[in-house]
Amino acid sequence: MKTNPEIPAAPAPGLLLVLSAPSGAGKTTLARRLEQEFPRAQFSISYTTRDPRGQEKNGVDYHFIDAKTFLQMVNRGDFIEWAEVHDNYYGTSRGIIDSAFTSRGIAVFDIDVKGGLKIKSRFPDAVLVFILPPSMEELERRLRGRGTDKDETIHRRLLAARTEIEKGLESYDYLIINDDLEAAFTELRSIVIAEQARRGRVDLSRLNLQSPDFAQKWAPQEK
Ligand code: 5GP
Repeated sequence: MKTNPEIPAAPAPGLLLVLSAPSGAGKTTLARRLEQEFPRAQFSISYTTRDPRGQEKNGVDYHFIDAKTFLQMVNRGDFIEWAEVHDNYYGTSRGIIDSAFTSRGIAVFDIDVKGGLKIKSRFPDAVLVFILPPSMEELERRLRGRGTDKDETIHRRLLAARTEIEKGLESYDYLIINDDLEAAFTELRSIVIAEQARRGRVDLSRLNLQSPDFAQKWAPQEK
């Protein structure tokens, strides 16, 4: 299709939604609720070398694997991005992105800021949302409340949280302060609804303007 430089390009049909936050900010709960509310949302289950915490289940929260297997996957190019966070490896597999694009789905990533920015550099239409705790004191209280981490781990996570917050504040598209889970979820679902209504993401095959080839003409071309 010929492009007009005065008209900004439409985003790709699928929505890549990255949620980042320091651990303890409530991001995983928000991500899981999105999945319940939007049938087309699919949660990206990362691979990690860290041990399962509390009630976490293999294949549901993460794919828990050992470092050798992880590095084999890195060498095979299985990951769209991967990182070392808190002395463990974490990686995002590429399959979910293809399925979001082919089925107009919403791929939800619960990853750190570096990972989010890597996804954005490869897929500029990806939407980056940063979830903030209301204060550092509240973040510490939530981390201790989980009762699953040692003091030293909590201390390390708090230090990492500061850096993560600074990076998120300067580079993410949307910021949500999670001082009330319901209000935070309302903001998140509003972002998803608005992003789905962007030109290019709307399914124009539903459109009926009496001209049979009208919708086809305006439907986005494969990138
Ligand atoms: P946790 O161990 O608390 O589940 O996660 C620690 C950090 O790693 C969080 O910031 C989480 O978002 C991030 N993380 C989880 N999966 C991935 C991934 O696949 N890639 C990257 N870059 N970060 C991840």
